Amino acid sequence: MADPILKIADLAKSFGGFTALDGVSLDLRPGEVVGLVGPNGSGKTTLINVVSGLYVPTRGTVTLSGHPIHGGPPHRVVRSGMNRTFQIPKPLGSLTVSENLRVAAAHGANGRPVETDPLEVVGLAGLERRLASSLNASQQKRLDLARALVTGPRVLLIDELGAGLSPAELDDAAGTLRRLAAGGIALLVVEHLMGFLAKITSRVMVLNAGRRIFEGSLEDAVHDPQVVQVFLGG
Ligand code: ADP
Ligand code: MG
Repeated sequence: MADPILKIADLAKSFGGFTALDGVSLDLRPGEVVGLVGPNGSGKTTLINVVSGLYVPTRGTVTLSGHPIHGGPPHRVVRSGMNRTFQIPKPLGSLTVSENLRVAAAHGANGRPVETDPLEVVGLAGLERRLASSLNASQQKRLDLARALVTGPRVLLIDELGAGLSPAELDDAAGTLRRLAAGGIALLVVEHLMGFLAKITSRVMVLNAGRRIFEGSLEDAVHDPQVVQVFLGG
């Protein structure tokens, strides 16, 4: 088995006296997809924010291709080969689709060639000259993914790409993520939609109140008493 490209070890993040993330660890190998699952407020986005360098961790380490990267700043993490998408994309609305990509490429320049057209990959080819503000929600999510892809990432952190998409758009998005993984990119995918996750991975990590309560197969997760309790209450 290949060595992990991303190693998250004992990661913690507190905001004042509140602990949003508490001792989370995970290894990701090239081409591997891990689903990140948990109730609202369990720390999924915080994990992405810390791993991507937006937040400085209170404790723990993040290692990308053997180099410590925790503490950011985010553009340095992007240049080291990891990028993320946002739960709520915020494109530069007054710029066109291709201008948005150019800005992202300039920030993430790392000398790695990007062989495939990111707009082609996400299904936005032909919309290059549209203002980003004129895109619908699903197109804005795809632009956000293209923005990350244009930096040539080896690791992608995806925050709720599926939320709000139609069944056909979900199928498309799942196909896109499967192809990215097949091309060797490691993916950590935050998602509530189990059907969507099942199409792209069999491995999940479950968070509750900032702690990892399960890591293993999706099939085992849905039968795990602790996971069931967290999702169904009781
Ligand atoms: P999830 O993505 O799993 O829904 P989040 O990671 O967004 O959860 O949030 C986890 C907890 O951390 C929530 O209680 C949230 O209010 C808190 N939190 C997240 N970011 C901040 C912040 N910047 N300042 C204070 N609290 C935060
Ligand atoms: Mg979130």
